Amino acid sequence: MPATETAVWDTFLSTIQQSLNSSTFNTWFTKLEFSHVHNNKLIVNAPGNYFGDYVTIQYREEIERAVEVALGEAGELLIRKGEVPENPHPAEPATPSRSIQSLIPARQEPYTPDLSWTTLNAKYQFHNFIEGDGNRMARSAAMACANKPGKTIFNPLFVYGDVGLGKTHLIQAIGNQVVADNPNRKVLYLASETYYHHYVETTKENRSTDFANLFRNVNVLILDDIQFLTGKEKTQVELFHTFNILFQAGKQLVFSSDRPPKDLKGMEFRLISRLGSGFTIDLQPLDLETRSAILVKRAEELDTELPDDVIHFIAANVTSNIRELEQALVHVMGMASLKQMEITLPLAKSALQRIISERPVTIGVDLIQKSVAEFFEIPESKLLGKTRTKKISTARHMAMYLTYRLTNNSKKDIGLFFGGKDHSSVIYAIRNVENSILTDPETGLLVDNLIRRIRQTASS
Ligand code: ADP
Ligand code: MG
Repeated sequence: MPATETAVWDTFLSTIQQSLNSSTFNTWFTKLEFSHVHNNKLIVNAPGNYFGDYVTIQYREEIERAVEVALGEAGELLIRKGEVPENPHPAEPATPSRSIQSLIPARQEPYTPDLSWTTLNAKYQFHNFIEGDGNRMARSAAMACANKPGKTIFNPLFVYGDVGLGKTHLIQAIGNQVVADNPNRKVLYLASETYYHHYVETTKENRSTDFANLFRNVNVLILDDIQFLTGKEKTQVELFHTFNILFQAGKQLVFSSDRPPKDLKGMEFRLISRLGSGFTIDLQPLDLETRSAILVKRAEELDTELPDDVIHFIAANVTSNIRELEQALVHVMGMASLKQMEITLPLAKSALQRIISERPVTIGVDLIQKSVAEFFEIPESKLLGKTRTKKISTARHMAMYLTYRLTNNSKKDIGLFFGGKDHSSVIYAIRNVENSILTDPETGLLVDNLIRRIRQTASS
């Protein structure tokens, strides 16, 4: 790596070090791992999923200033989620997003979709998917698919289960494995919500044939959270045709959902029967021992000492949701670093008060928008618009924050769902709300109240 690139990173670190106290600096910034500099972007890896988000949101201003010193005004810091590789030298790029351009038949006026929506996340691998009774069968089936895509009885593979149990991790692990074994294979991974949005957009532009063509030449198609397509009839018809073409060509199809195919009310019968025609398997909550093992592994990755009683407390209270285990851990670390205290059981208890009272259910962006608009007594369309009166922007920030907190969408996608805002507006909104939760007890209560309403509606 060129010496100048390392110098950029060193400058960044020493600048940011000056603006933070040493415990904050050590907790968050020493764990980022420098990868490389590209196009004025300082690219680093963060351990785990939630860690990078926390750092970007919490220390945004300090980061912006340090990046400016290191790279100039146009510079940017890009924190990639994922495991910090053990051998940091060959900076592994995230699994390359498939070149979809090469899948599209030539036409006079080339269709140039935004390809960022199809990327696999390199952090989701089989080796870091810890096995327990609740996921053993699903893991084996997924590995079989990955070894012989399209050539086993596990086609389509349909994985279902509650939120946070590892569906996304598992089905992306299939994609990552297939590409690692043979980089020429084309794997397309999409959240169904993204699939839907792009279908709608391309149809509006009379480009639905182009959209359909995107899927015609893939070896493996992975669609996450397919329950999102219930009630969306046209998109279902589109998917039905794609399914048939790929299946008949012996390609691998993988789906995830929060419920089994037969319970997908609002889904066309013929599609339900296709979805369930291969192998259907559920993920069950993991037992305490497996949850503790996951937590210990995460803490190791984050270089954080966790006393046994804290591990036990977190694993015992965050029972049904693996995603929240990591969130819980990062929250505890955040509280310790804000208060400059060691991690102890009382500290963990006070940090997690709010998290552990929440029950997991699947929540869609539309439900969040509807509930927030109702609560603030404004039309839902205003949340997606540009009006900046205080009431509307407060409501919009709140809705973006809740979407970030309660769903699995990236900040970029959240921007898309709120009328095409960019990713920095989403960061700004999230941090605004997080900070006012810390300083203003009323905001905390309001957030709790909204979450309760949204969860109630979602589970009823
Ligand atoms: P879902 O898609 O079912 O909502 P995710 O796949 O997003 O759940 O999982 C939530 C988080 O928990 C992710 O960070 C994932 O890596 C982690 N996770 C889930 N199951 C396991 C497991 N068995 N071993 C290690 N990490 C896991
Ligand atoms: Mg998921």
